[in-house]
Amino acid sequence: MTTIADRLANAQHRITQAAKFSSRNADEIQLLAVSKTKPITDIIAAYAAGQRLFGENYVQEGESKVNELKSICPEIQWHFIGPLQSNKTKVVAGLFDWMHTLCRDKIAVRLNDQRPDALKPLNICIQVNISGEASKSGIVPSELMVLANTIDTLPKLTLRGLMAIPTATDDKRKQKDEFQQLQSLFLKLKAIYPDLDTLSMGMSNDLEQAVEHGSTMVRIGSAIFGEREKGLNA
Ligand SMILES: *Cc1c(COP(=O)(O)O)cnc(C)c1O
Repeated sequence: MTTIADRLANAQHRITQAAKFSSRNADEIQLLAVSKTKPITDIIAAYAAGQRLFGENYVQEGESKVNELKSICPEIQWHFIGPLQSNKTKVVAGLFDWMHTLCRDKIAVRLNDQRPDALKPLNICIQVNISGEASKSGIVPSELMVLANTIDTLPKLTLRGLMAIPTATDDKRKQKDEFQQLQSLFLKLKAIYPDLDTLSMGMSNDLEQAVEHGSTMVRIGSAIFGEREKGLNA
């Protein structure tokens, strides 16, 4: 039987191999464990195996997990990676360390206003919709610079980089093309904001391609915690 610890080690190994293949240093690539829909016991198991970065997609579920694990797993760094409505920003501003899916001015301003003074600034990735499909969340590349500038002026937010969910496809060329576009967009933004250090892309099925195109943070769920139940929250 494989355990969560085994699967975590396997994910780390995949990162190391992918880094080697691209002549990159594996230390530049962080592993974010995506624990959405999974029980707290799974998070504790991953934490016991040394994992510290966890990602959650749903405000209510995230809120209860962060609160329940505060004293048991005090070193967890929490990343919010789901869509966020403006009436729920307060939870993310109050409990999370990172927010990966920012794509609107209005949300940025609310998160900044609601970030408690006692906490460090909230780390931000702007989500980019590289395929341009209207059904997808994320900002279109042409509007990226304006939003980046807004975030840069807000004192309780720290812009760290970009996040994307490329089209799920078996078409390797299309996939490569999207990863390449994201990488070049990130480099363009970094030329203006040299402190940017995060390109959040790559999931269980495409982490190798993401690392090949400069990802610095892969978000891995099912490869660590197993398949999720299909349905509303999957
Ligand atoms: C669920 C999710 C992941 C993890 O996906 P897997 O395919 O299970 O690795 C990564 N990023 C985001 C934004 C997600 O919603």
